[in-house]
Amino acid sequence: MPVSGLPPYDTQNIFARILRGEIPAKKVYEDNFAFAFHDINPQAPTHVLVIPKGPYCSFADFSAQATDAEIGGFFRTVGKIAKDLGLEASGYRLLANMGEHSGQEVPHFHVHLFAGRPLGRMIPG
Ligand code: 5GP
Repeated sequence: MPVSGLPPYDTQNIFARILRGEIPAKKVYEDNFAFAFHDINPQAPTHVLVIPKGPYCSFADFSAQATDAEIGGFFRTVGKIAKDLGLEASGYRLLANMGEHSGQEVPHFHVHLFAGRPLGRMIPG
């Protein structure tokens, strides 16, 4: 069930299609909770997207509807990916857009993992 007031999950969104293997992606890591792949239009030397395997439109949907195991497993995996990519020494940024004002483009919850250069201010301007 989607969060009240939010649209239902679109099973044809691009990340759902990547999860089903209908569209190729440069895979970084996969386990029971998450799938990670390189962003098609990287904004930093490392720009990885991490998505849960379940059908959640956004962080609002995921945080409200996913099980504790899914939420815990997902965020542990995000940390593991960053560690395994060797990003902890120099540091990295996590970002999740939710809804219109954030500019969320793909309606499947995802975390951006940016690294590889100084990343500047959190919000430009
Ligand atoms: P959002 O704005 O929704 O937080 O971020 C969506 C991200 O998905 C963008 O950074 C965009 O470059 C990336 N993206 C969109 N379509 C594809 C695709 O087909 N493959 C991959 N790997 N990334 C995509």
